[in-house]
Amino acid sequence: MIFPRVNFHIHSIYSDGGFSIRVIVRRALKLKLEYIAITDHFSNSWKCQVIPTLSTPRKIAHYLTTLTHHQKKLKEKGRSLRLYKGIEIDLGSSEEYIKNSINPEDYDIILFEYLETQEGLALANELINYWKERVPSNSFPLFGLAHFDPFHYSNDNLRKDTLFDFLKSHSVYFEFNSRYPEYYSLKHEDFFKRLKQEYIPITIGTDSHGLRRLNDYSEPIQMIQYYSLENNFLSFFDLLKKL
Ligand SMILES: [Zn+2]
Repeated sequence: MIFPRVNFHIHSIYSDGGFSIRVIVRRALKLKLEYIAITDHFSNSWKCQVIPTLSTPRKIAHYLTTLTHHQKKLKEKGRSLRLYKGIEIDLGSSEEYIKNSINPEDYDIILFEYLETQEGLALANELINYWKERVPSNSFPLFGLAHFDPFHYSNDNLRKDTLFDFLKSHSVYFEFNSRYPEYYSLKHEDFFKRLKQEYIPITIGTDSHGLRRLNDYSEPIQMIQYYSLENNFLSFFDLLKKL
């Protein structure tokens, strides 16, 4: 299989990234990337004290307008690069804050980070169900787990079942994140066997904060091949097409 050149996890100056969306898009074109998503941070936990985040409605609106502008420009110029509007939600944030600030219709992709506990899983599940009741299915985004560590679910079969139920019922995808190679290492082989069996969509993100790691996806591709997850990768693109 020929892998498309993708990076579905990128940070810009709207949170803790070092470059503007304009510069990222320009470099992605130069690198001949085919699909990218900008996924800046959203949080009201400890994290927002330490790094810049999408912290006000005004900043979020500006972020979305900028992304829309670049999406349009790429289309008008007939470029082969597809740009997606994403956001990375810290599951340590409060439920009210997320519900009040995030309109899922505004995004193509919503990433959840720090899914480590049963409470985190319950919150992610509650949010998606809450949004499903309010948003028509044809303007619903894709959901993914950012740099998910399978270790948190490795020793407890019941927890693992709950996790897979969640992934399947909302078509939530798993991200091969090259910034955290230990999360797709061979010690988690059983987890990846189950991903394959259950046909959970997967994709690749580099979690880049600069320009240097924008195309740092060769190791994830090797690991996807090693685990024979090519069909899971294709199923992600099937979901993407429905956006
Ligand atoms: Zn990130």
